Amino acid sequence: MIKQFAPSEICLKCRSCCRFREADSVWSPCLLEEEIQEFIDKDIPHTRVSIAINHRLCLLPQASGEGFICPFLNEADNHCKVYACRPFECQLYPFLLNMRAGKVLLTIDLNCPYASEKIDSPEMRDYIRYLAAYLNEKKQLKLLKDNPQIIQAYEEVRAVAELDLGK
Ligand code: SF4
Ligand code: SF4
Repeated sequence: MIKQFAPSEICLKCRSCCRFREADSVWSPCLLEEEIQEFIDKDIPHTRVSIAINHRLCLLPQASGEGFICPFLNEADNHCKVYACRPFECQLYPFLLNMRAGKVLLTIDLNCPYASEKIDSPEMRDYIRYLAAYLNEKKQLKLLKDNPQIIQAYEEVRAVAELDLGK
């Protein structure tokens, strides 16, 4: 598991993550091959992944009818029903893996209010150092090479480090 940047007590009061405007939103979680298998093996209800759309979790319409939610979000209390085995992409957020000009970059989404507030803090600098080192470990680089679907071309995110998938 990746050490979480935003504290849980802040995330539980925030209504930004796990909700999406479109059913095929580029922000919806893409799963690793092994995560898809794990969810199938554990027989987790509502596991539907669109292989055609980048291994993304199939979203559900929001009860209010205004958008879509991850099928694992408990809207009532804002908890993730699969928190202990939540996807790698969810563990990573507000950081994202981005392909830009042939480079694999670690980027940050400043739409996350906590990341935006902390962007110039020592805490953020320490976390970026930790995360870049973690992702540049051989084991994680292999995981990324085996799952190119999670390296995407997000716009309006800030690059903070480069990963070396050539290792
Ligand atoms: S947007 Fe940021 S603060 Fe809000 S739930 Fe997501 S990670 Fe937490
Ligand atoms: S798996 Fe959990 S953390 Fe990830 S989008 Fe769904 S509800 Fe949110």
